[in-house]
Amino acid sequence: MSLAHLLLRHAQLTPDRAAIFSGTELYATYGHWAARSAALAQRLQTAGLVPGDRVVLFMRNHPRYLEILWAAWWAGLVVVPVNAKLHVREVEWIIDNAQARWAFVTQDVAPGPLAGLEHQIDVETSVADSLLAPSVSANAGIAAMAPVLRQADDLAWLFYTSGTTGRPKGVMLTQRNLMTMGLTYFVDVDTVWPTDAIVYGAPMSHGAGIYAIPHLMAGARHVVPASGGVDPAELFALGRALGPLSTFAAPTIVKRLVDHAEATGLHPEDAAQSFKTIVYGGAPMYGADIARALRVMGPRFVQIYGQGETPMVGTALSRAQLSDTGHPRYRERSASVGVAQTPVHLRVADTNGVDLPVGDIGEVLIKGDSVMAGYWRNPDATAAAIRDGWLFTGDVGCLDADGFLTLKDRSKDLIISGGSNIYPREVEEVLLTASGVIEVAVVGAPDPEWGEVVVAFVVAQADSNVNAESLDQHCLEHIARFKRPKHYVLVDSLPKNNYGKVLKTELRNRLAENQNASTA
Ligand code: AMP
Repeated sequence: MSLAHLLLRHAQLTPDRAAIFSGTELYATYGHWAARSAALAQRLQTAGLVPGDRVVLFMRNHPRYLEILWAAWWAGLVVVPVNAKLHVREVEWIIDNAQARWAFVTQDVAPGPLAGLEHQIDVETSVADSLLAPSVSANAGIAAMAPVLRQADDLAWLFYTSGTTGRPKGVMLTQRNLMTMGLTYFVDVDTVWPTDAIVYGAPMSHGAGIYAIPHLMAGARHVVPASGGVDPAELFALGRALGPLSTFAAPTIVKRLVDHAEATGLHPEDAAQSFKTIVYGGAPMYGADIARALRVMGPRFVQIYGQGETPMVGTALSRAQLSDTGHPRYRERSASVGVAQTPVHLRVADTNGVDLPVGDIGEVLIKGDSVMAGYWRNPDATAAAIRDGWLFTGDVGCLDADGFLTLKDRSKDLIISGGSNIYPREVEEVLLTASGVIEVAVVGAPDPEWGEVVVAFVVAQADSNVNAESLDQHCLEHIARFKRPKHYVLVDSLPKNNYGKVLKTELRNRLAENQNASTA
């Protein structure tokens, strides 16, 4: 079966079942969804697009996102969902690199024409309405065109990496990669019933949207918030209206949900009415934060670790493991990213790819059917990332005797000061336990004497008197002296990308600019 057939199957079995919601309103049944996707697929084909051609989605979260993804797959095309926060120039670079022919956009994200396209369709216009309109009736619309057959190794999704260093790379995800990811959800993340619903708060161009696949496999409902983004009050209300929701969120978004629950005096039982499961990943979740999340919202969390190159499939830390507070190694386990997901082999190796003993820190290597086919038109980057079939993730961590992986940092975030390795995350974990501290990001700054020194960017509560001295004192009580930040920078907020990840490169650039200014 291919991705398009997943939709056809449910449209044939249960055409009248609710499939897509816009806010609390029913937007499409499974029958409507398939009819509209098939209609658009046919028009794309008539317009001359052939299997393998690329179609860009540059949109805020919108119910049509799902219809367009599946229309493209129905026609055998490759989707290129693009981060809605990218600059026009960056999107145009991706359009050119992917040699995309069509793009579907929302006006707020793409107010003007993008260069390099044959067609740019604003999904909220009558042009889009007519492209998606089934020709006769819903059923006739499906019959109008059967999904184009695709092979397991055919491309389905070009996922552009965030490109914090250099140009983004197009990760080539195949039908097999995405089908594997979808099926793995049921084994390693959660069961899904047709009565369940997933809500898309985080951007659909990334992990949140990829999770549409398992939820379509299960014939569940898909809810796109009216705001098209993350508004905690709206998400809690949607859950109360439509039944407990599942969602994928980066740790910073989880934090906002927990803040909301706490501020409005919700109990875990209230949270249970709104959320069935919250899957988090994509960036480090600090021990103090997950402990608070579990306390405030109850046992509804699952962690996953993956990357665009093996989407959503690396390790998982299950709801049961996160709830097993009596386990003798609970503290270590809850700070880990869990164990390898079912379809992959995972190991920790040295730079030559040789396995390291349990407990030793090295690079995380992953092999399996979720791992990308390579980088689009970039054989050098592909050869560097995949060696002997193993994906070199660039993440650094260690395994324990039971197979739990603890991530340290990305290798590029590691700080080497006076010849010692310092893992920013360890310092961040400690600073987060200091009273009055809300958020922290630790980076290395070049230093003539030490090579690098540790610098902490700290967001503190407005009424607190957090300062460099109090933070240094706190570090002295909790970590080795050489790991202590040499400098503290108090800031109002940390720079984050659209997916909620802290942009450490931007923080390092800020430090470099300051240094240049002071030496100029
Ligand atoms: P992306 O390809 O944009 O999804 O980013 C993937 C990167 O995010 C990984 O290589 C990790 O560095 C980081 N990441 C993903 N999941 C986790 C997690 N659960 N904990 C810590 N970092 C994570």
